[in-house]
Formats: sequence, structure tokens, C-alpha cells
Amino acid sequence: MAQGFIARLFGRREAPRALPRPDTAPRTTVRRTPWPEGTERALGTPLQPSVVYGAESPDALDAIYEGRAPGYTYAREAHPNASVLAAKIDALEGATGGLVTGSGMAAVAAALLGLVRAGDHVVGGDQLYGRSLRMMTDDLPRLGVETTLADPTDAAAIEAALRPETRAILIEVVSNPTLRVADLDGIARLAGPRGITLIVDNTFTTPRAIRPFRHGADIVIHSVTKLLAGHSDATLGYVAAKDPAHREAMRVFATTLGLTASPFDCWLAERGMHSFELRYDRAEATARALADRLDGLPGVERVIYPGRDDHPDRARAAALLGARTGNMVTFQIAGGRPAANALVRAAERIAFAPTLGDVATTLSHPATSSHRGLSPEGRAALGLSEGSFRVSVGVEPADLLLGEFEAAIRAAAAAG
Ligand SMILES: *Cc1c(COP(=O)(O)O)cnc(C)c1O
Repeated sequence: MAQGFIARLFGRREAPRALPRPDTAPRTTVRRTPWPEGTERALGTPLQPSVVYGAESPDALDAIYEGRAPGYTYAREAHPNASVLAAKIDALEGATGGLVTGSGMAAVAAALLGLVRAGDHVVGGDQLYGRSLRMMTDDLPRLGVETTLADPTDAAAIEAALRPETRAILIEVVSNPTLRVADLDGIARLAGPRGITLIVDNTFTTPRAIRPFRHGADIVIHSVTKLLAGHSDATLGYVAAKDPAHREAMRVFATTLGLTASPFDCWLAERGMHSFELRYDRAEATARALADRLDGLPGVERVIYPGRDDHPDRARAAALLGARTGNMVTFQIAGGRPAANALVRAAERIAFAPTLGDVATTLSHPATSSHRGLSPEGRAALGLSEGSFRVSVGVEPADLLLGEFEAAIRAAAAAG
């Protein structure tokens, strides 16, 4: 009775179809129990963790493998949760057939290692993400691919690094943590006519700020782990290519090396992305306000934000990113390590953690994390000191966050 009433009230069937009746249920727990039909109207994205997919017949399997019919065979090759996530990022980047990978570094590996061969040469930005730098300086040379690092804010420096055998250029639009803006258009003008593959890591900037394919990129990479997924609970990457041959080469390479992603991580990331635009816009507005508030506080020697007039690449940031100058702010305080320790301790509500793009603000200290491998002189050459901090601004109320930063900076100035 009650069930019938509820069914009438909501206009639904009384029970899901196709759950097995007791007399037809498998007599062993080994056999799969069928999934209730009717779930296709569920509002939430289903999570499909299956490793393997059965086919109707050898002919049907042929059709799937040959791309004549949709379908999945084995999760390392493809699975629905990766497809859904890839389609979501494809739409943002204006890409087709993007590939979701098990991490941002897996995407970098698919692009670099999946497309080059021994004897090729690759040029990289000199301030790439640490692990990408390592791939350039250690792994590619070990496999017979020579590499050169050059300053991507200066197209002439990139041009000087090119060789007849240069196969690819890898750059990030905004560098970590000094937030310099690459001359993407200038570099694309070098790469295009020479047939060099231009690979752009768009993690910091995201397609909200720039769509590198529109600026001549051949391949776009993301650490989905960061702003896109946004909740620091999934490690994932994405790589898309303009050229179908690149796409296919990376897909095959990623499948062979097992660079592909877990369904659960994809499910989490796709869920996180529902709020991506809102998070991005809110964090960016707060980042701008934070940069302005930091400037002029006691002991603050420098504030770096691409949306400020005192940024060295201000004009290029405006041309490439418009008003979308991001959620990252870097600043430097006086007083060396004691002041740095005092700041982190005083900012106790703000996570001191070497990541970015989380829904909440995180604070990182390059000298002891991302740039700890460099000597103090090497860091100084980049303009980094013991007092340098990088902030990944989250979506907290701006007044709360700005007040906490101001108090922490004043505590550091008193300690330094
Ligand atoms: C974090 C990051 C990566 C690597 O991504 P993972 O998901 O951590 O493997 C690559 N590039 C940039 C710019 C990053 O910030």
C-alpha cells in the first residue's frame, strides 16, 4: 500500500526491473547479479569500475576493436568514466579525442616519450614543473633524445635553442612559482613553419584563461589533479592533440605503458569539475585582492601576480589571458627562514602543502619543496629566496582569507 502510494506520488515504477527473482537468482555468489534496469535516468554519473567488458560474439569484438561499433574491452585501454571526463575537458579546450591519464606526469610522458625517437631533440622551458624538467634532463637523454632548456618568455632564446632535428617544444603558459608568462604566440610562430610539435602544459592557466590550441599549440596537457578536479582527492592527467596521428600514437603508448587512469579517480574528477568555473572565478577574484593587500604590508618585499601593473609580463598576460590572470600569487618577505617559519605557524588555518588548485587555499615554500633541489644561488637566479611563498588561492570568503594572511605577515615581520 505505502509503496504504491509513493510510486503514484512520484509517478514511478514500484520496483526496479530485472533484479533477479529468488527462483532465477544465480545459485552461486560467483556469478554476477544483474544491475537494475532504469538507472539510466540517474542524475549522478555512474561509476563503472569493471576491468573487463564481455562482448556478444567474436564479430562484435572485431567491430569494437576496429572502431565500427562503440564499446569497451579492457579498462587499461578505455573505460566509460575516463571517456566522460575526457569529453568534459575536450569541450573546455576545444579538443577532440583527449586522453585521460593516471597523472599529469603520465600525460607529459605520453606526449614526450610517446612521440619522439632516439636522435630527436626537444626544447623545454627552463622553469617547467620539477618532474617535467627531470624528464627533460634525465629520462629523454638516457633514451637518446637530446634536450635544451631555454627561457619561454623570450622567443629569441627558444629560437636559438632549435636544431634541424628538434622535434618538439614543451612549455607552460605561466611558470611556477615566479608566474612569468611565456611568449606562446611567438613560440608558435617558430614551431609551426618548422613542423615542430608545440606542447603546452595548461595546468596553471586552465582553459578558463587560455585555450592553447587557438594559439598554435599542437598538444595540450593538464595535471587534472590540480584546478580541474579541484579537491586534492584524485591524481589524473589529460593530453589532447590536434593531429589524429599524434592522438593515436599517444593512445597506443599510454595503453602499452599502462599510463591510463582509474575509474574512481575519473569519477571524482568529473564530479569535482561541476564547480570548476565557479571555483576558478572566485579564486581568481580573491587572488587579485590578496596580491593587492599583500603589497605594502610590513616585511613584504615583492608581490608577483600577472594581473598587477608591476608584473614584468603584464602586457603579455593581458594579451594572452585577458582578465583571467589566475589563482596563483607569489610573494617574498624579509627575515629569512625564521620569518618564513613564523609566517607558516601564524597562518595555521591555511594548509602548508606543496600543491595547487585545491578548493581551499594552500601555501607552499619553494625553497623547501619544489625548488629544494636547487642551490641557494640557483634559486636566487630565479628570484627566489627563503622568504618566497606561493599561494594557491581557494574559494574561501575573501575577507576571511585576506585577514588571515595579513595577521600571518605581521607575525612574520615581528619574528624576522
Ligand atoms: C602538478 C603538475 C604536473 C604533474 O601532475 P601530477 O598530476 O602531479 O602528475 C605537471 N605540470 C604542472 C604544471 C603541474 O603543476
